[in-house]
Amino acid sequence: VSGADHVHPAALRIGLDVGGTKTDAIAVDPAGEIVARVRRATGWGPDGVVDSITAAVEELSARLGADGVGFGSIGIGVPGQVEPDGARVAHAVNLGIDSLDLAAAVNARLPGAVRIENDVKAAAAGAYALHGATGSMAYLNLGTGIAAGIVVDGVVWRGSRGAAGEVGHLSVDPAGPRCRCGQRGCIEALAGGAAIAERWGRTSALPVRDVFDAADAGDPAAVALRHGLAQGVAAAVRVLVLTLDVDEVVLGGGLVGLGARLTEVVDAELRAGGGASPFLRSLRLHDRVSPLPAGSPAAALGAALVGAADPTGVLAHG
Ligand SMILES: [Zn+2]
Repeated sequence: VSGADHVHPAALRIGLDVGGTKTDAIAVDPAGEIVARVRRATGWGPDGVVDSITAAVEELSARLGADGVGFGSIGIGVPGQVEPDGARVAHAVNLGIDSLDLAAAVNARLPGAVRIENDVKAAAAGAYALHGATGSMAYLNLGTGIAAGIVVDGVVWRGSRGAAGEVGHLSVDPAGPRCRCGQRGCIEALAGGAAIAERWGRTSALPVRDVFDAADAGDPAAVALRHGLAQGVAAAVRVLVLTLDVDEVVLGGGLVGLGARLTEVVDAELRAGGGASPFLRSLRLHDRVSPLPAGSPAAALGAALVGAADPTGVLAHG
């Protein structure tokens, strides 16, 4: 974190990852380096969210001596459905937003071009940049829910209606647990943090970690939940590679905080899947999966890149 002194604020791109509990905001210089980072709690509802975004950008502004100048662009990743215009967000239930022209609401408070993106798609763009990836990559977000973002040659693949990568609602077990989407045995019903916490049923600040601890101690219900999680993640990796043949599947999201405890059970499940199938084995799925480091700024960085992107969706590089 240096070099900001020599860069005019108008050349800096701002990226924000607005989560249900915290907002992560960064400033990126033309070389792609992060020159400042601010984290603060996220307010509730349209006003609370806009207040949090404004306060985070003003704090970056104060730190970088940019008061009143305005940054080059502001990109914002949000957990919700974002329309292709990059302005309006809908169904952001974790933020208390039903429908809002977030770009206009932010622009009423801050100068500069504002662009909104779905948080997982933003994180996919950020992970691609952080990995120095070329070709294709899938980013698989393992959090409260499960979703993927797909990047091909540096461009986030949105699909015709923005639903590309919603692998969490692929049913892999017709007799499996009921999913909040109405189906049974969705990948998200097996591997989503909220679904696991609900079926575990015990109150805990970190329910999935609690499940892993209990599984280590031999609790049969916890062992079954942990196995379901591994099966769900492995199924998501399989479908991403078999559909897109991506070079790499990068894991991110809150569950990645479990570190090797998570990657080991996923790795074992992927290897077991290859055990009976020379075809699957030849794809070397376990070699293509890698986690983001805990606390990675991927989502905020991706938002900064998306915010600075031209309307064709091609990432701007400096
Ligand atoms: Zn579902």
